Amino acid sequence: MSVVFKEVPGEWTSFCPECFQPLDARFETTPHGVFTVKTCPSHGETRDLLFRHPALFDRCMEYMKWHDPGPANPDCPQDCGLCHAHASPSAITTIDLTNACNMHCPFCFAAAEKKEEQFWPGPEQIRSMLELARPNRGHMATVQFSGGEPTLSPHFFEAVSMAGELGFLWVQAVTNGIKLGRSPDYALQAKAAGLKGVYLQFDGVEDRIYRATRGQDLMALKEAAVEHCRAAGLSVTLVVTLIKGVNDDQVGPILNFAIDHLDAIVGLSFQPLAFTGRVPYAERMQKRYTLSDLAVDMETQTGGRINALRDFVPLSATRPISEYMDLFRPSEQSEKALVCSCHPLCGLGTYILVNGRTKEFIPLPQLFDWDGILQELHDRAAASKRAWGRSRLWGAVELTRVLFRHRRKDGPKFSALQLVKIFDAMTGGRVFHLSKKRRYEWRLILAAGMHFMDNYNFLAERSRSCVVHYATPDGRMIPFCTYNSGPTFRNAIEEQFKGGGA
Ligand code: SF4
Ligand code: SF4
Repeated sequence: MSVVFKEVPGEWTSFCPECFQPLDARFETTPHGVFTVKTCPSHGETRDLLFRHPALFDRCMEYMKWHDPGPANPDCPQDCGLCHAHASPSAITTIDLTNACNMHCPFCFAAAEKKEEQFWPGPEQIRSMLELARPNRGHMATVQFSGGEPTLSPHFFEAVSMAGELGFLWVQAVTNGIKLGRSPDYALQAKAAGLKGVYLQFDGVEDRIYRATRGQDLMALKEAAVEHCRAAGLSVTLVVTLIKGVNDDQVGPILNFAIDHLDAIVGLSFQPLAFTGRVPYAERMQKRYTLSDLAVDMETQTGGRINALRDFVPLSATRPISEYMDLFRPSEQSEKALVCSCHPLCGLGTYILVNGRTKEFIPLPQLFDWDGILQELHDRAAASKRAWGRSRLWGAVELTRVLFRHRRKDGPKFSALQLVKIFDAMTGGRVFHLSKKRRYEWRLILAAGMHFMDNYNFLAERSRSCVVHYATPDGRMIPFCTYNSGPTFRNAIEEQFKGGGA
């Protein structure tokens, strides 16, 4: 059984959700949204909503202009590991420290509560997975420990320390926050071990939401986890599983929560629910949340201060920024910047400038012609193949000029000094690593969604450019959506390595 790629634009490849036979897929645009449609000779037609708002689908597809699909592998995704044809380095490598969990959520892509015998990699296995992930095709590497609930692993702190020793640029944990919320010391210990960030499960700002998504009241615990992370100096990204009709009214309130906790929270990661198991069409349509819903809900729930079409671009649109930064690495041999070269249909986001004192917020595309900036950076990166050794300060000055050139005439008015402060918020300690400390009151939050695939909406063309990879104990790197859906490598690997590892 193999899935065959189609190179012709507009032709897409998937499989039957019942028998996994490879199938061609197509997009169908209707007044109710853009659907993926595929037909199995044995099991009939499967259709699923991909984008509820066609204009935002078209907006994403504009960015195919910078997308490099790489060579085709006729045995994708069965040939995973990564295969020779995979088109992207990793932006985040995920290492599961267990599939056990201390919660029993009604919605869980890892189906953690259903596993009878659990998976507990030992220190040697963890090290070998980290060593596997570290080279990352010559790009800087980040790692996140996940699960199940990774803080249940007896090797959690050791794993974090190992990642630091191996020189990962960023080390984070994906957690429900139970341990962090119950104990300020736990956050301090994690920080001391070298943890930099926490991807905190955060479905809303009211207990009624957690009762629906997690089966219990959790708001006080989430607030305590954020506070303990703040006190320990851990950066927090709120990770929101979005389910239509359950918590889609929480997009704006979660942004407001982030603005109120700006000294800890650096980002919002919205993840529309991916279905596991067999789910009938009517139930899927009732709960299916799409990336365009996120952009439109953000607009509606912020009273129009964020504009869906102007402000949201695919995550892969940031690729020219990485390529431009690469011009200013110390030498040709130096590691390249992290790059988010996923498929334009995989993620959608916007950068929001927030004033920590006044709580004022402005999406960056309201200040700048974002498309113009990205095009200029792309052109510069393409033209200046050899700028190695030029200082980062030079790069920052050049980037400032690019930004100023693309300032919107009809945007909010800022003095030159204010714009320098905003630029500092955008670059200080992050983009060019020029400054360790943030010196001004403006902060930048990334509000982004990634729509993980399931058996109903799987497209191999997305998986082959995936930038979120699992490192597995059998020495493979497997794209996130391939690991959790389709032939489902997760089940096979957890079965093979169940029990405690070395
Ligand atoms: S998902 Fe990527 S690594 Fe896996 S088989 Fe396809 S192209 Fe290769
Ligand atoms: S994890 Fe899934 S949605 Fe995200 S980049 Fe990979 S293929 Fe795309």
